Amino acid sequence: MSTDRYDVIIVGSGAGGAATAYRLARAGKRVLMLEKGRRLPCDGSTLDVKQVFAEGRFKNKEPWRDGRGGSLVPEEYYNVGGKTKWYGAALLRFSAHEFEADPEHQCLAWPFGLDVLAPYYDEAESLLHVNRFANEPELQRLVERVTQSDAGWRSEALPLGLKPEILNDEREAKHFDGYASVAGYKADAEHNLLDEIADLPNFTLMARRKVIGLMHRRGSPEVVEGVICRDGSYFTADKVVLAAGAMTSPRILQDHLDATGVGETLPSAPLVGANFKLHINSALVAFSPFAHNDVLRKTAIFLNERYPHTTVQCLGWLDGDILATQLPRAVPKFVANAIGARAIGFFITTEDGSSPANRIVSGGGEEGTPTADYDLDRLPPAKAEHAAAIGDFTRRLLRAGLAGVDRYAGLAGSAHALGSLVAGDDPAASVVDADGKVHGMDGLYVGDGSVLPRSSRVNPALTIYAWGLRLGEHLAH
Ligand SMILES: Cc1cc2nc3c(=O)[nH]c(=O)nc-3n(C[C@H](O)[C@H](O)[C@H](O)COP(=O)(O)OP(=O)(O)OC[C@H]3O[C@@H](n4cnc5c(N)ncnc54)[C@H](O)[C@@H]3O)c2cc1C
Repeated sequence: MSTDRYDVIIVGSGAGGAATAYRLARAGKRVLMLEKGRRLPCDGSTLDVKQVFAEGRFKNKEPWRDGRGGSLVPEEYYNVGGKTKWYGAALLRFSAHEFEADPEHQCLAWPFGLDVLAPYYDEAESLLHVNRFANEPELQRLVERVTQSDAGWRSEALPLGLKPEILNDEREAKHFDGYASVAGYKADAEHNLLDEIADLPNFTLMARRKVIGLMHRRGSPEVVEGVICRDGSYFTADKVVLAAGAMTSPRILQDHLDATGVGETLPSAPLVGANFKLHINSALVAFSPFAHNDVLRKTAIFLNERYPHTTVQCLGWLDGDILATQLPRAVPKFVANAIGARAIGFFITTEDGSSPANRIVSGGGEEGTPTADYDLDRLPPAKAEHAAAIGDFTRRLLRAGLAGVDRYAGLAGSAHALGSLVAGDDPAASVVDADGKVHGMDGLYVGDGSVLPRSSRVNPALTIYAWGLRLGEHLAH
């Protein structure tokens, strides 16, 4: 055991954990961050298509069950900086109405409005150097053809956590969406937040420390005072923040509730792990007769009020090497290259709403296999809107001269895992309060994407960073 006692222990170093730590450490609090994964190498391997996509070298390998007893390996990344090292850095705010309930789309309300999060969005955008880039020529022509053929579709510049210098480095510019930057052109939780506090004497980051349990005050399992790691080490603090991601934080809490029996009296216990969301995401790859030369590509987002819970974003660079990882092995390299040179990718995201039956369930400790029970049939409005939006956008592309094929990311495409410990004012309808404290418990907070009551129609990371900054400020007082 460590004899040091910390003010705050943070479990996990992704978007939410790093933002919480940044705020707390700069306020002078003694912060210990425990991260299950290691630091990523800086040798260029994180930009290598073969190692990243074909071999999946850096991805989670731990198996899960789905709700029907089938198995899957979710797209989780366990490393310092969490999934932000791999994300596409599309950093968007939720709209004001996305903090309100939308019962027809099965969406819960936030416990506060956009006005409360706005200052933290401002701060996160500044820390992450959010920029907008002009569309490259071929994309701009396509945007014009899509929006002119149907005035319902409009396009905006996509806010990106990318430094403008990335345009001078073709390798990084073609490999930021789904890869980890080596040069630091892409803003992420490690580079932009943790490195900023790394030299402070009151901040300690321990990598390769998997937290497997919570410690509590003797006789009071509802008062959390520390954490236990898989290697047998344990650490104590006044407060513990779970920021291990929406597929892990609820399991740590479930195991504690089950082991201590405190779940029997906690009103929110049945909701721990429930309301799990991950967006309905589909990739749409479109092909034209002409080769494409744009490099960055991911600079535009399309919206259409006929599909108010849906957005279409451009994906980053695609080529034969990347497409070959998705094509049958029998497809010759020259064919993959020819297809890749004519391909442009889109990412269609629909807000998935909340169903209590969509849930993360612990396997019962270290050895058990966890379950992600998530079924789109529990979310009929979202499912219908997603299909309609894909059909409509595909027809727009066809009119613009591009034939498209789409593929649903599925449950294993867990990039946007969210909402398994939702925030709210009512302990019987939510797990944490507006300040991130677990209802009915003391000393335990949640700082990651688990808390999001709604997934919204845009990517979640900026909102998770903003939640973390706000939580850090709250805990610093
Ligand atoms: C390929 C890809 C592209 C994406 N693109 C975008 C995008 O363009 N825009 C956007 O907004 N979002 C994007 N996302 C999603 C975004 O990265 C996540 O929403 C965000 O990182 C979630 O933050 P988090 O703090 O909830 O969890 P994470 O970032 O997953 O962090 C959780 C951390 O906890 C650690 N951990 C897990 N278990 C334990 C344990 N037991 N003990 C200690 N540590 C533990 C993990 O290793 C990890 O470091 C993308 C994700 C992926 C994978």
